[in-house]
Amino acid sequence: MTEMIKKLSNYRKLATLFRYCFFLGLLFYPAIVVAQAGQLSSAALEPIRVQLRWYHQFQYAGYYAAKEKGFYEEAGFDVTLVAGSTELMPVKEVLAGRAQFGSSNGQILLSRLQGEALVALAAIFQHSPSVLISLASSGIKSPQDLIGRRVMSLGEHSDVSLIAMLHQEGIQLDEVELVASSFQIQDLVDSKVDAFHSYLTNEPFELEKQGVLYNVINPRDYNIDFYSDILFTREDVARKSPERVERFRQATLKGWKYALAYPEEIIQLIKKEYNSEKSIDHLRFEALSVRGLMMPHFSEIGYINPIRIELMAKVFLDLDIVDNLDNLDGLIFESDTGLSSEVRSAIVFILTFVIVLLAVSGLLAIFNRRLQSEIRERKLVEEKLETLAYTDPLTNLLNRRGFSTRYADELMRAQRYGDVFSVILIDLDLFKKVNDQYGHESGDRVLVSVADLLLKDTRETDFCGRFGGEEFILLLPNTSLVEATVYARRLCQHIGDNNVRLQNGRLVTITASAGVTEWLSEDKGEATIRRADQALYHAKNNGRNQVVASDFGLDVAGFSSE
Ligand code: GH3
Ligand code: MG
Ligand code: MG
Repeated sequence: MTEMIKKLSNYRKLATLFRYCFFLGLLFYPAIVVAQAGQLSSAALEPIRVQLRWYHQFQYAGYYAAKEKGFYEEAGFDVTLVAGSTELMPVKEVLAGRAQFGSSNGQILLSRLQGEALVALAAIFQHSPSVLISLASSGIKSPQDLIGRRVMSLGEHSDVSLIAMLHQEGIQLDEVELVASSFQIQDLVDSKVDAFHSYLTNEPFELEKQGVLYNVINPRDYNIDFYSDILFTREDVARKSPERVERFRQATLKGWKYALAYPEEIIQLIKKEYNSEKSIDHLRFEALSVRGLMMPHFSEIGYINPIRIELMAKVFLDLDIVDNLDNLDGLIFESDTGLSSEVRSAIVFILTFVIVLLAVSGLLAIFNRRLQSEIRERKLVEEKLETLAYTDPLTNLLNRRGFSTRYADELMRAQRYGDVFSVILIDLDLFKKVNDQYGHESGDRVLVSVADLLLKDTRETDFCGRFGGEEFILLLPNTSLVEATVYARRLCQHIGDNNVRLQNGRLVTITASAGVTEWLSEDKGEATIRRADQALYHAKNNGRNQVVASDFGLDVAGFSSE
């Protein structure tokens, strides 16, 4: 039993241990993540080339910030930002694998529709900065005014939003005289051309500096609203390691957040580290225009709305630049869960921990329940054994051992509180004869019958035992010698009056002698019982069938037996 309880408490200890492990795990996990992040940064950084669309300027501020502030390094990348030119075009460089990432305009959508496997990661500019600018003095204010005029443009497909605007307004391309761009706004100022393809972030600054008044023809005012400065990569790269691409994307967006929060710091950086040709004032002007195109208060930085992408794609279809939109699906990069790898592994770790914990707790609960029921069964068996050890199997009365135990308790109580008690010792008269005459079995019947009588007659507080072969003993708490003697007489009377039916149908009666005594404060051990035995001895010597009270001397009861 004790072993079983030990086992049970071991299981409980184990369960508590698991609980502690769980909470320790939760406590230490952030430390593990930080350590892992540390490992990442100390591991060799992966070299990455990012092809920009044009010269270094605030248009790419987020990339410079991500590099300068260590966001790329934290993500495991050593990034080189390559300025673009008319020769170094992002789509071409990324497709050729010379750059892993690029920043471009609607060109990436067009390339995708034409079958190039590119994916868009983030639309940095929510609106395109591409506009047409004319001198205010020219009176050119709308697309209609461009008919028959010289327009300096970057080339048909680089200016898709401008071409789309003309188309939208019902103007055929051959109605306008397109001239290859010199990239010199001075050509407009000098009226060498009538309109100039410009970036809202750039040329207006030059014109304002010179005090030249100008008009802006913006495709957005004619329902042509393109995303621009889209961060992109090759589809196979994104597919092979989406987690890595997502890390790069997140680091870039973090850079952009920083650049918008601290534009002046990045302006100084561009001027110093990237040798931008633009003046500080020009970069400040650009920073303001860029913020306006990114609309950070209206949409999350980098957000790509699939509906807007579809609208852009339809423009290409309407202009017959592409035949179908079959390749549109899959253009927008989707990282599997949108969660960072750290968060993902944290979730996996915690889930695994919880599952293991639940499984172990479940197993422990099953063991626990089994153990409890085993303990209950054992207890019952032990109780039964204990009852057997203290019970006489023939009469179901207390046996000598059982009686002695109870007697010792009562004696202690009497000694401590002075509660008086009496003892009656009953011995059947000439019982041997019953055995001799009717057999041992019949003798047993008589014994059982007398025991039943005694049980019936005793109070609940009394206890009754079989002290020897045909000898019975009673302990009567809170009972004086006088009361006990009267009681003993009544018992002997009942025994004498009792007809016991034997197996063969015959009736047998038997008498009993009793010795009675009362506990005296000087009594030690079983002295009281011994005194009762002496009284019984006197009763036998005096002719049996009588009760003798030890202190009152001989008392002839005169019960008769047949
Ligand atoms: P007395 O009046 O002097 O007590 O005479 P007695 O015959 O009762 O006394 P004695 O002690 O000589 O005999 C007791 C007998 O009780 C002896 C034994 O055969 C019988 N006896 C003891 N235990 C049992 C028992 O469990 N069953 C039966 N049937 N008889 C028993
Ligand atoms: Mg006897
Ligand atoms: Mg006897």
